[in-house]
Amino acid sequence: MVMEIQTTTYACSLCQRKYTRREDAEKCETLCGKLLKSPDISILGLNARTYNILKIAGIDTIDDVRETTDGFLLKLKGFGPACLEDLHYRLKLLKGQHANADPSSES
Ligand SMILES: [Zn+2]
Repeated sequence: MVMEIQTTTYACSLCQRKYTRREDAEKCETLCGKLLKSPDISILGLNARTYNILKIAGIDTIDDVRETTDGFLLKLKGFGPACLEDLHYRLKLLKGQHANADPSSES
């Protein structure tokens, strides 16, 4: 006698990535939803340690960083004042890039 085993697969509705656990798919959907509105913090070019600390804290996008307070960041394990300074510096650089990239100036 053979048995038919049904396996359920969950997929993120935004990127179609498949998961065996529902909570993983839900996590993916949350992240994909955020990334539709704001770019991933990887574009800042932070060092791997700072990047990982932010990711673990659920700070995935530029919007997330902007909505977070310095006080909150400094309470994160391993996130020191030097990390904060670096983060602010890179955000400033990013802002500068956007200011210079004026789509209407060239055709
Ligand atoms: Zn997804």
